[in-house]
Amino acid sequence: MSEGVELVWYGDDAPWYDHGPQHPLRPARVILTRQLIHDYGIVDGSRVVEAAARDATQEELLLVHTERYIDATARAGHGERGPWTEFGYGPGDNPIFPNMHEAGARVAGASLVAAEAVLSGRAEHAFNPAGGLHHAMPERASGFCVYDDPAIAIAWLLKTGVERVAYVDVDVHHGDGPQFIFYQEPRVLTISLHQTGRTLFPGTGFVDELGTGEARGTKVNVPLPPYTADEEWFLAFESIVPPLVRRWEPDVLVTQLGCDTHYTDPLAQLGLTTATYRRTAEALHTLAHEAAHGRWVATGGGGYQWARVVPRAWTIYFAEMSMVKIPDELPRSWIEAAEREAGFEVPNTLSEPAVPGGASADSVRSVIEQVERTVFPLHGLR
Ligand SMILES: [Zn+2]
Ligand SMILES: [Zn+2]
Repeated sequence: MSEGVELVWYGDDAPWYDHGPQHPLRPARVILTRQLIHDYGIVDGSRVVEAAARDATQEELLLVHTERYIDATARAGHGERGPWTEFGYGPGDNPIFPNMHEAGARVAGASLVAAEAVLSGRAEHAFNPAGGLHHAMPERASGFCVYDDPAIAIAWLLKTGVERVAYVDVDVHHGDGPQFIFYQEPRVLTISLHQTGRTLFPGTGFVDELGTGEARGTKVNVPLPPYTADEEWFLAFESIVPPLVRRWEPDVLVTQLGCDTHYTDPLAQLGLTTATYRRTAEALHTLAHEAAHGRWVATGGGGYQWARVVPRAWTIYFAEMSMVKIPDELPRSWIEAAEREAGFEVPNTLSEPAVPGGASADSVRSVIEQVERTVFPLHGLR
């Protein structure tokens, strides 16, 4: 198997996934991430390469979405009038934007390229920073997400003959799309760590959501209290994710690496710093090799500090995947480009000072214990 790593680039030949200037999911977050990865020199053109995305085909989108939803998405994005609110489109989280079908199909295609790279052995690990749109449902746009690219990539892996997939979602929001889509699918283990749905969109992701029928126990949720900070968050990750994924022995590990868990994120209330992204990246990398034959398909996800946090967070993950040691000091060229784009100052280093947590260690520990008590026995653990 190759030891190569691929950064899958969305491409300049597709319309951007852009809900408009007032919307928090800005294309600049992905563009600045790619630039930081390049300015650090991580992509060397031989072992670590950039691969071009393609569009997901209609047949691939149909692995997860319904025909009428795909049709509605295409027509709404081309300015036709219709009952689009029925499909989740309208003012607010999912405004209709031009060419949204084409843009969504490209995001999904980028995750499929990552999955193809890893499954074929062309690369060991592949990362689609534009992906991770984990709230889209089979027939409904939700939470800024048109097509559910992680779910489409997983469905494609299963269709291609993969027997077991583990999906780990560290976005601050519950990974409700993949969980719901594979709720009765015993071949897919989903684990989502997130701020509890009692205080955050989408309002789901509780410990008792376990999957049904033969799939019971394969859907795992770790709902954390607001203001959970670095130490407690990582304790939760370490207690739950590695034991279950090791036990699961997936053929492929798929991860959604949303960084809206950052303490400065404007849309949520967890308290992480980049130190936790580094530890999580190392832990997922180790897990990919020890439990998933090295096969790791990674996507981006949420993260709304688009200049200050997102590019640093995902560069930390991609450097780990690529096993390239990079200096803490950010390249001058990138700082200048980011500040020009943003119109405000950005940090100069990947690392940042620790911040005090606001959630009690006891409350986090009780969530961990509840998950262990409920889920572990279903996997023959404990
Ligand atoms: Zn999110
Ligand atoms: Zn590796």
